[in-house]
Amino acid sequence: MTTIESTPPSNFIRHIIAEDLKANKNDGRVVTRFPPEPNGYLHIGHAKSICLNFGIAVENKGGVCNLRFDDTNPSKEDVEYVESIKEDVRWLGFDWGDRLFYASDYFEQLYQYAAQLIKKGKAYVCSLSAEEIRQYRGTLTEPGKESPYRIRSVEENLGLFERMRAGEFEDGTHVLRAKIDMASPNVIMRDPTLFRIRRVPHHRTGNKWCIYPMYDFAHCLSDSIEGITHSICTLEFEINRQLYDWILDELNVDCHPQQIEFARLNLSYTVLSKRKLVELVEGEYVSGWDDPRMLTLSGLRRRGYTPESIRNFCERIGVAKRDSIVDMALLEYSVREDLNKRAPRVMGVLRPLRVVIDNYPEDQVEELDALNNPEDPAMGSRKVPFSRVLYIEQDDFQEDPPKKFFRLAPGREVRLRYAYYITCVKVVKDEQTGQVVELHCTYDPETRGGSSPDGRKVKATLHWVSAAHAIEAEARLYDHLFVKENPSDEKDADFKKFLNPNSLEILSCYVEPSLAGAAPGSRCQFERLGYFCVDYVDSSDKKLVFNRTVTLRDTWARIQKTRQQKHKT
Ligand code: ATP
Ligand code: MG
Repeated sequence: MTTIESTPPSNFIRHIIAEDLKANKNDGRVVTRFPPEPNGYLHIGHAKSICLNFGIAVENKGGVCNLRFDDTNPSKEDVEYVESIKEDVRWLGFDWGDRLFYASDYFEQLYQYAAQLIKKGKAYVCSLSAEEIRQYRGTLTEPGKESPYRIRSVEENLGLFERMRAGEFEDGTHVLRAKIDMASPNVIMRDPTLFRIRRVPHHRTGNKWCIYPMYDFAHCLSDSIEGITHSICTLEFEINRQLYDWILDELNVDCHPQQIEFARLNLSYTVLSKRKLVELVEGEYVSGWDDPRMLTLSGLRRRGYTPESIRNFCERIGVAKRDSIVDMALLEYSVREDLNKRAPRVMGVLRPLRVVIDNYPEDQVEELDALNNPEDPAMGSRKVPFSRVLYIEQDDFQEDPPKKFFRLAPGREVRLRYAYYITCVKVVKDEQTGQVVELHCTYDPETRGGSSPDGRKVKATLHWVSAAHAIEAEARLYDHLFVKENPSDEKDADFKKFLNPNSLEILSCYVEPSLAGAAPGSRCQFERLGYFCVDYVDSSDKKLVFNRTVTLRDTWARIQKTRQQKHKT
């Protein structure tokens, strides 16, 4: 399954693994896992974890990476999510082979492990209410208080735990807790809950179980059962590591994986928590999990992102121990860089302005040669029709141009890409609104192909389409989903307050006829306007719909430049 072509940059996790291999720890094996909870679609943050875990497996001889669904909370989980996660991991370019696992497959084993802890006197059934448990826990500065049920005998605990499993009790009446230390400075260690009663059918085990293990209990043991060597997770689990190790030590398991934490990805102008993404979907603030404005993998795919661009992005951001916010411009840079190499160029006009070439014969049509990708001559060329009536971009004309506007204006000459030099001779306006509705121009027949034999220079080259030949299509232009760089940083404010009301603009546009029948999902560059992708949900034979993946403006380069300048001064 080799999908990563270049040697990825080293980071502290790769360093730890290299050292372990040198010391022949774990008999020289490297086994990692990607453990999503199937309670939502994967997002770009998950991609960082996938690239890291699967990447490490690929890089190390004999290394493997498991895909494991952490499906221990049936009330929020669904097969739809399981399927989407598998699809997204595959799309990103990774393959788990036959190593697909579910924590729910271990429920029986986990139950037996819990019983073992009870027998050791290390776990007990607690009958405090959830609220009481919370109160007894204490705070960061004050120790907790022991539950009165902590002194239950092993026999009583075993009996109660069995009856919990048998469905004799209501939700919330009892839980199984580890007996550790209510005064521990680490609040997680204050007798954490291991199993709870939840009479909810599970998407895989159906009604077989009415007690479910907690994340902390299920996770370390699932890792151990699968023989994971390096359990890589995000920083917020650093305080859980003590419990991870405690459980595995108390149960004296054969395999005790090493938990290593890294900083999760945060990205500007978006939210990446599944809880928040669910809110956006369910509240219909977006059209679904795959809305092209969502930073989910399915949203990015629909928007036109390539798996390569996302993998490159994940390499670029690196892996560190400290939280930070990555600039969205870097993600955009990554896709632009990739599409620049592979996306064929075409011409499309987003906001059409009619142009009549007065001296061009009425019924003449010429097929002009246009390069498919100036970056890659191997991509060849195509023909584009030129005729007397064209569309150009409204933005490319100004009646009264300011100093630095070099495009078309009355009396001025510009180049039409791959076609001719034209000069604007007349402006037609709507009598009522004063809006420019049509231009009349003349063309110079000597400039066919876009250069003048007399060496005459023009300052602008415009894209265009022939009105009679163009296809009408829909273009969807996207902006950030949020207006605020970090929509979640105000504690008391609802992040939805910062949604960008202008994040989607829908235009009726004209594209060159070579795009007729463009396949859903296919990508191209509209010259000067950005990279576009045929929407595979809403595009049809009747109407082409294009999503703009990204504009051509490289804001990342600008950000880098300003940073360097700041550095100098
Ligand atoms: P969220 O906070 O979005 O709900 P999660 O951590 O609950 O995410 P899981 O399904 O449990 O989602 O995540 C699966 C794996 O992906 C975990 O190992 C988790 O650490 C990792 N992961 C989740 N979000 C990020 C992120 N933003 N950056 C890097 N890794 C992440
Ligand atoms: Mg989680």
